[in-house]
Amino acid sequence: MSTSDLSITDDKWRAIVENDKSYDGVFLYAVKTTGIFCRPSCKSRPPKRENIRIFKTAEQALAQHFRPCKRCKPTGQRLPDHEWIALVTEYVNSNYMKDLTLHILAEISHGSPYHLHRTFKRIMHLTPMEYIQQTRLEQAKKLLICSDISVAEVGENVGLSNAPYFITLFKKNTGYTPLQYRQLKLKATQNGGTQHGTANK
Ligand SMILES: [Zn+2]
Repeated sequence: MSTSDLSITDDKWRAIVENDKSYDGVFLYAVKTTGIFCRPSCKSRPPKRENIRIFKTAEQALAQHFRPCKRCKPTGQRLPDHEWIALVTEYVNSNYMKDLTLHILAEISHGSPYHLHRTFKRIMHLTPMEYIQQTRLEQAKKLLICSDISVAEVGENVGLSNAPYFITLFKKNTGYTPLQYRQLKLKATQNGGTQHGTANK
């Protein structure tokens, strides 16, 4: 606990839930799961109470590596697009195993789906959904090489729990089925004995 942290009282919680403008300037709240901080009056969806951290100033929140909300601009300045998109990619990098959609990303990053899609594509040269897919496939490759869990389990671990879909997607992107990919990589590191997980559903 740092000394700049204030506790979340019932009063502050009420101000956040009710978007109470009279508390703007009194405190700011950051959300651990999204890495964003807001003014009490922000119209974004209220987070879970246990994920909230309270700060007195924007400087304190920034010092703890939280980013200002794009919607309520708690620093008084517009969040640069590349920082906004960095926030989204960081969220995907640590939440790729969860259910992710453009709408979910827009909600956690406090922007509109349309604007997020366009800005993301301009900066990353791929769409948010393509980025999610790419992240999942990269993680799947790692798991196929570094673990011996089944192909279906690999899919589940990277947010692609529909095994046939996972296998099709993987093949489309790499040219190999997950099992072929694992065998190929195993052969490359050890000559002889193939050892692999079973591709059960
Ligand atoms: Zn906000």
